[in-house]
Amino acid sequence: MIYLDHNATTPIDERVLDAMLPFLKIFYGNPSSLYRHGRIVRSAIDTAREQVAALVDANAAQLIFTSGGTEANNLALTSLSPQAGFAISAVEHPSITEPAQSLSYQGHHLEIIDVDASGRVTDEAINKLLVHRPDLVSIMLANNETGVIQDVEHHAGRLKASNIKVHTDAVQALGKIPVSFRRLGVDLMSLSSHKIYGPKGCGALVFDKSMSIKPLLLGGGQEQGLRAGTENVAAIVGFGKAAELAQAELAMRDKHLCSLRLVLEQGLADIPGLTVFAGQAKRLPNTVQFGVHGADGEMLLMKLDQKGVALSSGSACASGGGKPSSVLTAMGISDEQAKTAIRVSLGKTNIEAEVFEFIKLLKALVSQA
Ligand code: PLP
Repeated sequence: MIYLDHNATTPIDERVLDAMLPFLKIFYGNPSSLYRHGRIVRSAIDTAREQVAALVDANAAQLIFTSGGTEANNLALTSLSPQAGFAISAVEHPSITEPAQSLSYQGHHLEIIDVDASGRVTDEAINKLLVHRPDLVSIMLANNETGVIQDVEHHAGRLKASNIKVHTDAVQALGKIPVSFRRLGVDLMSLSSHKIYGPKGCGALVFDKSMSIKPLLLGGGQEQGLRAGTENVAAIVGFGKAAELAQAELAMRDKHLCSLRLVLEQGLADIPGLTVFAGQAKRLPNTVQFGVHGADGEMLLMKLDQKGVALSSGSACASGGGKPSSVLTAMGISDEQAKTAIRVSLGKTNIEAEVFEFIKLLKALVSQA
């Protein structure tokens, strides 16, 4: 199989698995137990917290582990104080848009921040927010479908100067570009383990100590009392190891992905009627989303699957939904064109030969259509 869907999930790194196994086989103690067996496990969680915090340039005390990016995003939004108004960008992941919708039904005023034709939040859109002054604004760092990177540091600076709190969903950016909680200047940031070659079902919320987080789960003092429940120890250890490796290998992975993307985009440029979405914008080194005029994206994906290539149209959660991507729609792309979308998301183990093979198969399928 040629796997080109790393924004959906990544294969676990062998070194991550090796770090996790002792915590499934030997050190099974409860990290809250006071005896030595428990204390060893507690110390492994502490190490993982340091490792993930180091990757995002934050203090370990500012980070709590969650069951993934979805929970971190939900936690960030549901911590809004009663009556607080908030705003989210028009290109957020469903783990932001759906809790946002639910909060708006509960009476919180919700504003959607428009994006330009490349899917970027503009200064003009932020100007409007500065008039309405919501209490919290959520703008993702990098988009899961197009790979477009937002200038969160710049927007956060302006919003914070008006005392507006800022959250960023950094799930897709993590491990692909440098992410600094400090430099971005945000108050809240969501992370996920399985997009950086760590295990699924684990993520984190990073928060400024001035924030008051309202726990989603009650019933235990774990994670500073903000996320009750016995910790998913092996997954947390794995997330920590994946973060350590991502930090050490970031430059190397970036170089590899950029050179593969160049080969990919050169190959795509030869296909008549093909448009790369947000092609001119600053994007993640691994992501290229495109459409071929007149083609049915889902149909192409199925045919590529039969040939052994795994990739998707955009958000894994939306796959098979039959609806055009709301991210592309927000960028002003017609429903008809959005339905042609295919997303290639490369990973650290992909090689040039796989990209050439994909291009060859795609060209053959497009010319048959
Ligand atoms: N945010 C973004 C941008 C994502 O792409 C995803 C997963 O696809 C999530 C959040 C959810 O993360 P998780 O799968 O860890 O719940």
